[in-house]
Amino acid sequence: MHYDVVVIGGGPGGLAAAIAARERGAEHVCIVERAEELGGILQQCIHNGFGLEVLGSDLPGPAYAQHFINRVYQTGVQALLDTMVLEVTSQRSIYATNSRDGIVEIKAGAIVFGMGCRERTRGALAIPGTRPAGVYTAGTAQRLVNIEGYMPGRRFVILGSGDIGMIMARRLTLEGAKVERVLEIMPYLSGLKRNYVQCLQDFGIPLQLSHTVREIKGDRRVEAVVSVAVDEQWRPIPGSEEIIPCDTLLLSVGLIPENELSRRVGVQIDPVTGGPIVDEGMGTSLPGFFAAGNVVHVYDLVDWVTMAGEVAGRSAAEYALGLAPAAVRRLRVVAGDNVRYVVPQLLDPESLTLGPQRLQLRVREPIEEKVNVILEADGTDIWRKTERYVRPGEMVTVQLIPDLYDRLKLATILRVGVRKRK
Ligand SMILES: Cc1cc2nc3c(=O)[nH]c(=O)nc-3n(C[C@H](O)[C@H](O)[C@H](O)COP(=O)(O)OP(=O)(O)OC[C@H]3O[C@@H](n4cnc5c(N)ncnc54)[C@H](O)[C@@H]3O)c2cc1C
Repeated sequence: MHYDVVVIGGGPGGLAAAIAARERGAEHVCIVERAEELGGILQQCIHNGFGLEVLGSDLPGPAYAQHFINRVYQTGVQALLDTMVLEVTSQRSIYATNSRDGIVEIKAGAIVFGMGCRERTRGALAIPGTRPAGVYTAGTAQRLVNIEGYMPGRRFVILGSGDIGMIMARRLTLEGAKVERVLEIMPYLSGLKRNYVQCLQDFGIPLQLSHTVREIKGDRRVEAVVSVAVDEQWRPIPGSEEIIPCDTLLLSVGLIPENELSRRVGVQIDPVTGGPIVDEGMGTSLPGFFAAGNVVHVYDLVDWVTMAGEVAGRSAAEYALGLAPAAVRRLRVVAGDNVRYVVPQLLDPESLTLGPQRLQLRVREPIEEKVNVILEADGTDIWRKTERYVRPGEMVTVQLIPDLYDRLKLATILRVGVRKRK
């Protein structure tokens, strides 16, 4: 089998990439997806909140996914479902397996990684205590309730104020469960404020910041968790322990981009994002390999995943069709004051002559007052914009305007910082 572009993963990032590759002129485009259907994680996200930016309407996850699944089939993209990619070579051969064909080899002119992300589990957290039944990640509980029709418990504590945990707090309450509390080790929310208001506040579910789970109690089944307050260094504060009776603990403590395939083929990974280092076209460090969606970094809105997927798909098609420029000069985009990371990490200044380019960043610490987002080229301020506040759970987007081309064409480093307005 040979395709111009092969997309690994049929979530919103992969779907957008495949459609864009086809629309850019790649004739033979295929999505390889390990699940039985396209749509990725969106199939279990039955709440609203998807599509306002991209489709101008507020849809539940499966409806948003279906819009793009329909377009995939209308544009003639093929989908190889129930097929797991096991390995990718630098020569762009893909080895995959399914129960019909055994192992298949697929050759590609260009490859787009769209494998999404996975949740951090209890093993990664090392919470002391026994190992009773009743500890789930929030995403597993989401799948059990929304797809399998199974309630994993009646009385919940949620560790971590990530978006999936807050969304599940509301979902479980609507299903008749009692969510006792959401505990967050950081002194601020780690998900979107919008989810805090709509999922916790509106349902009277308490959030305790600077708190964590010290111990899980129970023999066969969770019977309680011991919560504890922590100081700025996350050290437990003696005497602040509290026993919270519950039968289920949900973990919502972060998402990790799924990059085993990318790592093994030699793509350079950013240690902060956990995803490939990419340029403005979502090209990775290996020629002919591109990345779309949460495999790059964890976006806060699926609409952004779709937009980034479109960029990756277009670039992959251009590479496969021989339309990409042979060699380009790229300047490094680096994190400055109070910025944890910026994506893309590399930028061809010439791309500004074709139109605006998007940078997305996350801050380290929240600032609940007006801030400046400042761009410095080789140490000189070249642009700034004001934001009303910044929060680690909410991505900041910067549109680099074509007028900046003259300031950037000879620069080597573009530093992005966020500072309080004086
Ligand atoms: C458990 C969980 C729950 C989430 N819940 C929400 C939510 O409620 N709301 C929200 O906005 N966001 C949620 N997210 C974030 C969500 O990942 C993104 O919002 C969005 O789905 C990202 O799109 P994507 O295309 O990058 O990845 P995904 O939607 O994860 O799609 C990736 C696809 O790649 C496939 N895949 C991975 N590896 C392989 C392989 N080797 N071979 C073949 N196929 C492969 C997967 O099966 C999957 O279909 C959740 C994430 C997780 C992990």
